[in-house]
Order: sequence, then structure tokens, then C-alpha cells
Amino acid sequence: MSDLIQSVRGMNDCLPEVTDTWQAFESIVRDWLRRYGYREMRTPILEHTGLFKRAIGEVTDIVEKEMYTFVDELNGESLALRPEGTASSVRAVIQHNLLYDGGKRLWYSGPMFRHERPQKGRYRQFHQVGVEALGFAGPDTDAELIVMCADLWRELGIAPTLQINTLGDIESRHRHRAKLIAYFEAHQDALDEEAKRRLYSNPLRILDSKNPAMQALNDAAPKLMDELDEAALAHFSALQAILRDNGIAFEINPRLVRGLDYYNRTVFEWVTDQLGAQGTVCAGGRYDGLIEQLGGKPAPAAGFAMGIERLLSLMETGSVTLATPAPDAYIVHAGEAAQAFAWQAASALRGAGLAAVLHCGGGSFKSQMKKADASRARYALIIGDDEAAAQQVTLKPLRDTAEQTRVELTLAIKYLQQ
Ligand code: ATP
Ligand code: MG
Repeated sequence: MSDLIQSVRGMNDCLPEVTDTWQAFESIVRDWLRRYGYREMRTPILEHTGLFKRAIGEVTDIVEKEMYTFVDELNGESLALRPEGTASSVRAVIQHNLLYDGGKRLWYSGPMFRHERPQKGRYRQFHQVGVEALGFAGPDTDAELIVMCADLWRELGIAPTLQINTLGDIESRHRHRAKLIAYFEAHQDALDEEAKRRLYSNPLRILDSKNPAMQALNDAAPKLMDELDEAALAHFSALQAILRDNGIAFEINPRLVRGLDYYNRTVFEWVTDQLGAQGTVCAGGRYDGLIEQLGGKPAPAAGFAMGIERLLSLMETGSVTLATPAPDAYIVHAGEAAQAFAWQAASALRGAGLAAVLHCGGGSFKSQMKKADASRARYALIIGDDEAAAQQVTLKPLRDTAEQTRVELTLAIKYLQQ
């Protein structure tokens, strides 16, 4: 047993039971995005390491210590497993000139990879659904992104709370940055190692610290809010007005700065206190500079990403279950003529759009019925040589106490379709 190969730490198998739930979740999500006019885009899981360095920033947790990078031995290129989806989406949009005729509403989903310490709600391979509204500058787009999330939460039966903030524009961030550096320089002794390292490279990120010993210092730090210019403030209040109009409750959290460098103006997070330290289920905002930063023609952009594992566990804590599919019928058959007719019956059921599991491997009637029960099928469709001769089947309900009936195959199909 000792040389049994197991899955990589922090990377999970999704077994059939769980996958049923994921599929139900995914189909709700797909339909929700369709109703908002967003279209799916699929990009490779591997990208050039430089893409993430340039998009996310060199001095970020992700790029500094969480990214899976390796050198492609065949050509010496440094590649990375994508840690998030925005950089790839923007890369693809630039590469294929998707914004040539105006803004685009896009979404993606799939596995992301970060070398973090695995714990509940934090994995090394995890899954996101992400939404990008590219080419739209106004606060109405920020509001749409938030309102559509609220819509999805309602549908999923969960109620995370919304925190919003504004990071202002680049000039106000520069003013704020200078004041922050001066402030932290004046309190050198109170800084932890991480803060010292980030003091000149990315002082804003010090405010994002999870170290309790840094809280008091951070609370008293110069506020970006005091540096914001008219345009950014107007954008922020227009966003709030639309949210209020649409009955979306929110809390302004001036400490919300987000882990990634590319945000400006609006940032938001949907948080819950039900999942311990891993309480952010969805995070996003505006990143007007990113497209240009990655070499595209300047265009505004906003988006968000949600963590599927965290959303599903939030649903679990609330005992929300999604309807998952089970076979319509498990076909039990005994006898030679019965077997031939069972194959025909299975084919007819499937042709009619029903899910039919045909028993394989023979065995007694009793043992086949046990398998039928275990399959979670709604009905056992029983065929003996008698039935086969009459081109009939016996339908036995497995999920309730209704009587079994013997009918023509075509009738049975009609019955199962109801
Ligand atoms: P955190 O502060 O929890 O590390 P983050 O700011 O790094 O989150 P984002 O990069 O904004 O996260 O990713 C968006 C969402 O993806 C998060 O809100 C979360 O729901 C999910 N997520 C991020 N990292 C992980 C992970 N390692 N495992 C599971 N879900 C994750
Ligand atoms: Mg993180």
C-alpha cells in the first residue's frame, strides 16, 4: 500500500455524487449568464509566466509565492498554470482583437492553480466562474456585475453580504501611496516582515495584511478616500445609486483593496461568516488599465470571479441541495429472449430521451433488483421471457409504494416521459 500513488496535495477528485451537484450548479450558472447576455470564452490552462507577472504584478502573493511555474524542457520557455482567469481573458481579447466593434460581455470557468496551504475552502487546484465586461467605462457596468451576482445568490439560496470600495484613479493612488510610505516609514518598528518588504514596492498591499498585529497601525493609516478626485467619487456614488434603486444592500469597506494590482475605482467582495477564514465567495471590480498594460489599445474593463468550492460549501451549510439527475429506469432481464428484448427496450428508451441503465453481467432476479435500487433509478423495468414474448415490460416504481404494472413497451415509455 505504501507505494500507492495519491492525488497531489490540495487537489481534489470530484466523485460522481459530488459531480452531480457541480453539474447542477454549472447549468444554473450557464443559464444565468445567458440571461444577462454574457458569452463563454475558453482559454488554455497554461500561459507564459510573463503574462501573470505583467497582469497581476510582481509583488503579489500570487506571483511571489503561489504560482505553479515550470520550464518547458523542450524549448526553455517559462510556463505557468493559470492562477486566475482575468489575465488570460484579456490576453485572448487583445490577441484576437475582440473589442474592434465595441464592448464585450464574456465569462469563463474552470480550474485555477495556486500553491497555498490547503485547508477548507482553500485548495491548490480550485475552480472559478469569472465574468468580464470589457470596453465599458461607466458605473452602470459595475452595478450590472453586482446586481447579477445578487440574482445568482437568490437562485442558489444563499445570502453572502456585499462590501464595496473605490480605489480611485491612478493619480490619487499615487498621492495616497506617497502618504502611505511616509506614514509606514514613520512607524518602521511596528511593521512585520511582509510589510517591510512591501513598503516601497507595494505599500497599498500592506493594508491587505491578515496579521492581527498590523491591524491598529493599518486602521490609522492615511485613507485613500481622502485623496479621491471628483470623477472617481462621482463614479462611486453613481454605482451606489443604482445599487439602492435595485434593492441591493451594501457596506462600504474602506479597507477593501483586493489582492491583485490591476484594480482601479470600484472593488467589491461578497463575503460570508459561515466559512471561517475563507469567507470571500466572490470578488471583483474595475481594472481600466489592464488592457493597455498587456499591450492592447486602451479600453476600460470590469469583472469578478467566484470560487465554486466556497459557494457549494456555503450552500451546504445552509442545507441547500440542487436537484441532481438519476436514471429513469434500470432494466432488469432474465432469460435469452428477455435479454434480446431488453437491448431493444433500452435503445427505445434512450431514443425517447430517457436515461436507461441496462443491467449487465447476468445474475438472479433478486440480485438485479438490488442493483436497480442502488442505481437510484425511478423505475425498474423488468423483462422476463413472458414479457418478451408479449413485447411488454413490467414497470416497478422504486421511489414510492405505487403498484407495479405490466404494459406495452411504447406505453411504458410514454409513462416514463411524464
Ligand atoms: P483569498 O483572500 O481568500 O486568498 P483571493 O483574493 O486570493 O482570496 P481572488 O484572486 O479574488 O481570491 O479569487 C476570487 C475567488 O476565488 C475568491 O473570492 C475565492 O472564492 C476563490 N479562491 C481564491 N483562491 C482560492 C483557493 N486557493 N481555493 C479555493 N478558492 C479560492
Ligand atoms: Mg489568495
